[in-house]
Amino acid sequence: MVRAVQIERPGVLRVGDLPEPEPGPGELLVQVHACGVCRTDLHLLDGEVDIPNPPIVPGHQIVGTVIARGDGDSSLRPRPSDARNPAEEEKSPHEDLAVGARVGIPWLGWTCGECRYCRGGRENLCDRARFTGRDIDGGYAELAVADARYCFALPEDYSDLQVAPLLCAGLIGYRSLRMTGDAVRLGLYGFGASAHIVAQVAVFQGRRVFAFTRPGDEATQSFARGLGAEWVGGSDESPPEPLDAAIVFASAGELVPAALRALAKGAPVVCAGIHMSDIPSFPYEILWGEREIRSVANLTRRDARELLELAPQVPVRTEVHRYGLDDAAAALEDLRAGRLQGAAVIDVGR
Ligand SMILES: [Zn+2]
Ligand SMILES: [Zn+2]
Repeated sequence: MVRAVQIERPGVLRVGDLPEPEPGPGELLVQVHACGVCRTDLHLLDGEVDIPNPPIVPGHQIVGTVIARGDGDSSLRPRPSDARNPAEEEKSPHEDLAVGARVGIPWLGWTCGECRYCRGGRENLCDRARFTGRDIDGGYAELAVADARYCFALPEDYSDLQVAPLLCAGLIGYRSLRMTGDAVRLGLYGFGASAHIVAQVAVFQGRRVFAFTRPGDEATQSFARGLGAEWVGGSDESPPEPLDAAIVFASAGELVPAALRALAKGAPVVCAGIHMSDIPSFPYEILWGEREIRSVANLTRRDARELLELAPQVPVRTEVHRYGLDDAAAALEDLRAGRLQGAAVIDVGR
């Protein structure tokens, strides 16, 4: 049996023992060392993001060691669709993921390889995608099973706890940052796990970071300043100059018109979360001038490869708060209440 945390149904988290999972063909059995806690886990728990087949073990920022590979490994044989899909061409980094290797398992757990999104280099939008910790049991457990093609070797410079937040907070943040193009003046709304990584990458890329927190949250504001933000303020404040792009990490819909008002002409608001409360209506005038609103959904394996290569160069330093597996509920509630700076990570080995 393995110790694991499950979302049984909306609102109900259960810690208990589950049968050992078995890797199928092309899958890895991973001894989990650490698993990052993401706001998506909260949305799943709260029923704001649907779980198709509960119960499910949440957690999609998994760091562990490969302890077995499934028999009849088909993952090393390119699928016919891969040939038509050069944008997501796999040099098969998973070939290195032998027994004993350290591995990272992110949110994107499986894609069909055949739909128009997969074929067009946008596997993040795959019609049949399966996600770790939503469709596939995730990392709030001592063992996890994952399709080797969607797993990654991790930069050696990072400990298990410190690398975990790169796997979603970092990846989704990085994809969001990419959607801002060459924006120099970058607004970050909601300075949590994702923004604390993105701010470091953005400064490294020569951008100027403007961080917006809950009004009056001086602790987070000084945290943001320490990570390179040149201006910090409440989300109800205006920045000292117009922004070339804004990324909204918080799940409060009212931040979208607030961010629009802070933008220069032609600038985008990128919504990075999987769930957001309704966006209030706003005058067309604040969208006029070719401002844009767009969302970012999931990640591609290309995003993962790029960020995992870039992070040690910055170098990104993650601020992590450690919780035991039995304290998963506390981690989620601390995240909900905004009681921590940086990222919560479950130390499964503890
Ligand atoms: Zn697909
Ligand atoms: Zn996530």
